[in-house]
Amino acid sequence: MTTPPSSLGSPVPGPFPPSPETRRDGKGRGDRLPEHGEVLVVLFGRIGDVVFTLPSVAALAKARPDLSIDWIVEDRCADLLSGHPLLRDVIRFERSRLTALKKSGHPLRALGEIGRLVKRLRSRRYDAVLDFQGLLKSGVATGLARGALKLGSPSTYGRMREGSAFFSRMVPLPDAGLHLVERHLLVVRELLGRPVEPVSSGLTISPHEIRSAREKAGSDPFVLIHPFASWETRNWPADLWKKTAREMVERGFRVVVAGAGGPTQEEVVRRILEGAGGRGHSLLGQLSLRELAAVMALSEAVLAVDSGPMHIAASAGARVVALFGPTDPARLGPFGPRKRPGEGESYGRSGRVVAAGLPCQPCMLRRCPIGTPCQSELSPTAVVEAAMSLIASQELAGLSGALARERAS
Ligand code: SF4
Repeated sequence: MTTPPSSLGSPVPGPFPPSPETRRDGKGRGDRLPEHGEVLVVLFGRIGDVVFTLPSVAALAKARPDLSIDWIVEDRCADLLSGHPLLRDVIRFERSRLTALKKSGHPLRALGEIGRLVKRLRSRRYDAVLDFQGLLKSGVATGLARGALKLGSPSTYGRMREGSAFFSRMVPLPDAGLHLVERHLLVVRELLGRPVEPVSSGLTISPHEIRSAREKAGSDPFVLIHPFASWETRNWPADLWKKTAREMVERGFRVVVAGAGGPTQEEVVRRILEGAGGRGHSLLGQLSLRELAAVMALSEAVLAVDSGPMHIAASAGARVVALFGPTDPARLGPFGPRKRPGEGESYGRSGRVVAAGLPCQPCMLRRCPIGTPCQSELSPTAVVEAAMSLIASQELAGLSGALARERAS
């Protein structure tokens, strides 16, 4: 089954009534944020969640350009935010370093690092702390931060989770069917007390990164395959990727494969390159997240399972074919800038979603009790047809500006 792209992104419905708590005390409304106020965004990761939250930060910055916005984020996602023009400061939680210190028998040094992070977090007094995650970890950071208002998100999957105990106010969740980008926007809507529209997240890709991406990807038209997701049930079998690669090569495209790297990924990439014959190459473990975004924006299309990199591709304005198994494309489908020939640019649900269309989908299970037929029954033909239709539509063309900047430089 190929699911056609949904309607263009629209403003989150309004007018937005203040939450009962807000009406009761009348305090902490966003329109009472002081001029040149300071806001802290708390969202540590993962990649997809960072990408989903960027449009909220962009919407807030557009509505209140006088604000100074900081963001606390895990090191593995910080690359997406570093140097972002909408952010005053990116506070890195060095998770990898802390894990390494603990494993190498230096727990006191790890504690010292945490102490320094807490000191930095508390060095400013914020007018609002926005927890977009609602997990225990983000809740603890929200609790530790100094802030007049601590506003909590409905959380990634729409359930208030452990971190909600640290909020001074929760965001009401009026529509469980929203895409997560729209769900996160509810936090900004609650803060500002008025409707907000999704704003392009503006992943910042420098001309240098675009040149580097072009050098790594090569100059002939290519499709980028990113076949990896963290959940076992989100992954498509390597043999089906191999067939897909062969079919895309038969249609005149080179195949570039990307992934974070590691022995299990190497085997999958080997199979895909087998399918591509001499027309494929691997960038496994060779790209930072921003370089990955740049390569994706330069591609003819990105074929990817539901994963953080798929969301980076959509956000970077690439043409995305998203393969869905157990997860829900209504909430997690590609979302980014889009443009059809003869139309202006807009921002919302984009790309093509392909799925096997089984009655058990979406189940949101990380382990499948029946052998993951939602993946094995999704055919390469459906994926290739979606890619060809998207490429032919010229619906998107590196709308992050990557192509334009490359041509101008
Ligand atoms: S139960 Fe169905 S949707 Fe869930 S992982 Fe298994 S096959 Fe996929």
